[in-house]
Amino acid sequence: MVSRLRRTLLYPRVTLGRLLALAVILILACGFIGFTDVFSFPARNAVGDKGAPVAGAVVGEKRGKRRADYQVRSDKVERDAPGENGQGVVLTKDEQEQADALFKKEAFNIIASDKISLQRTVPDVRDPKCKDIEYDAELPTASVVIIFHNEAWTPLLRTVWSVINRSPPDLLKEVVLLDDFSDRDGLGGKLEKYVAENFDTNVVKIVRAKSRQGLISARVRGAEAATGDVVIFLDSHCEANVGWLEPILQRIKESPQTMICPMIDVISDHSLTYSSTGHGSSGGFWWSLHFKWVSMQAAENKRRKSNVEPYRSPTMAGGLFAADRKWFFEVGAYDEGMDVWGGENLEISFRNWMCHGTLEFLPCSRVGHIFRASHPYTFTGRDGTPNKDTHGINSARLAEVWMDGYKRLFYLHRQELEKKDIGDISERKALREKLKCHDFKWYLDNVYPEKFIPDEGVQGFGQLKNDKSGFCLDMLGKDEKLTLNIGVYHCQGKSSAQLFSLSKDGQLRREENCADVTKHARDGEVVKMYPCHKMESQKWTHVKGGEMKHPATGLCLDVEGVSNAGDVVVKKCSGSDTQKWTFDHYE
Ligand code: UDP
Ligand code: MN
Repeated sequence: MVSRLRRTLLYPRVTLGRLLALAVILILACGFIGFTDVFSFPARNAVGDKGAPVAGAVVGEKRGKRRADYQVRSDKVERDAPGENGQGVVLTKDEQEQADALFKKEAFNIIASDKISLQRTVPDVRDPKCKDIEYDAELPTASVVIIFHNEAWTPLLRTVWSVINRSPPDLLKEVVLLDDFSDRDGLGGKLEKYVAENFDTNVVKIVRAKSRQGLISARVRGAEAATGDVVIFLDSHCEANVGWLEPILQRIKESPQTMICPMIDVISDHSLTYSSTGHGSSGGFWWSLHFKWVSMQAAENKRRKSNVEPYRSPTMAGGLFAADRKWFFEVGAYDEGMDVWGGENLEISFRNWMCHGTLEFLPCSRVGHIFRASHPYTFTGRDGTPNKDTHGINSARLAEVWMDGYKRLFYLHRQELEKKDIGDISERKALREKLKCHDFKWYLDNVYPEKFIPDEGVQGFGQLKNDKSGFCLDMLGKDEKLTLNIGVYHCQGKSSAQLFSLSKDGQLRREENCADVTKHARDGEVVKMYPCHKMESQKWTHVKGGEMKHPATGLCLDVEGVSNAGDVVVKKCSGSDTQKWTFDHYE
């Protein structure tokens, strides 16, 4: 059917009055649709790319509103090319051998990546409801800052293309490629040439650091070079998905002190498959100040009416987030005393919450990231120290500035850092004063009430010792994230592997995992550490110097017949000395 508007345009009876009226209508229309939106996006997106917009975000939408569906696809890319639609790449035997040989150096499968188009499509993994959300036509502009140090070519350029192809041009002020003093082939002149030939250099800008900054300072240099209203940081191995940008800008427009993380989808480091990250993941931390993915806080889950609403997260993973550029600097950018990598993600999370901002995850904004098990670059500090423990030292700085008395819990895990030179932190302390930030207890109480505090509000804490054997409960160096048997070992005094708590509701636990015995357990059964829940398989009763009893089975924790570094067991309660336990501290 021909629309009414088309009919008037097709069969006009031209009179001067009608021409004038038409001109007025056109001017008005351009005004509210946004002139630049209509006329500039194919040209501005991709010099040298023959792409055409699949769907305009603005054209045809309701007055003043837009949907997050902007996408340009290159018509040069074949639909069934390797990796299209976010598929994984299957390699030949020879290629796989090459990939394996390079894996250690690159920390991901570079052969697979090199086979995939720099403009590959990815599956739109958003909740379908995201597509119905209307965003303001007028939004703040974004500067996307991509920092890199000696990173591989194809993931870096794929990151840039994904941003260019899936960001409405009127919202994307620029992409800042912040080169953190790379010396890898191709990242110099070749990169400049590629950018000049493929992008508008007013949009994609290369900024070079004059010395290795480390990722923390590199991001600050990038934000300083940025001119958009909002600064969005991405790692150099990401792929922005359809509609990723609009929800971020909308939320920051509404709430400029909110830092926003897109949902970080997973790009496999082996096959480069793009897959959706689960719903409702949120950021937490270990007291050793490593980042941890946790589930959404129960209060947030309850508060939200729809699962496409943003939700508050206690921390962020670090590499991918957005902030109002002015607010980012007002709230202290980053602690530039931190070097190379690590700790800055928790620092900015704690700081933004404590200093009157918030932090949210946005289900409708999705960006893929290649999660790598190691790093393809050196950890040489700015002071020249090779293999520097920058995560440890950076974390100690954050603990000293932001965690008040709770820093004790960090040092329980990292005793050696307590006396280490961590540099001058006076400026950061002054910042905290100036911004009149809340204290860390406020953060725990208000932002992260689910975080378990091992030595507060518990029945007992410390080593759990059996006097008869001289053994203490011990994690025996096993990976805390896995379900595993608890063991015993000679008491060590202050080893973090021997720290256990008995919570008020009877959980014998570490930070995340609880000692668990199923109701079918037999006499002599081992005890497993399992993610904590409130059910009876994880309930224990104990008084100082007495048994550690598991009422659901009537069994007691026992070291009878267990040798050093062996698994502790549960046996029929007998009151024997091998069943008597004492914590270092009781409340
Ligand atoms: N990076 C940097 N300078 C450094 C270390 C890292 O610019 O000294 C960049 C790196 O190239 C990457 C980003 O910082 O784009 C985050 O690093 P990485 O991806 O290794 O961190 P992860 O995702 O593993 O936390
Ligand atoms: Mn990364």
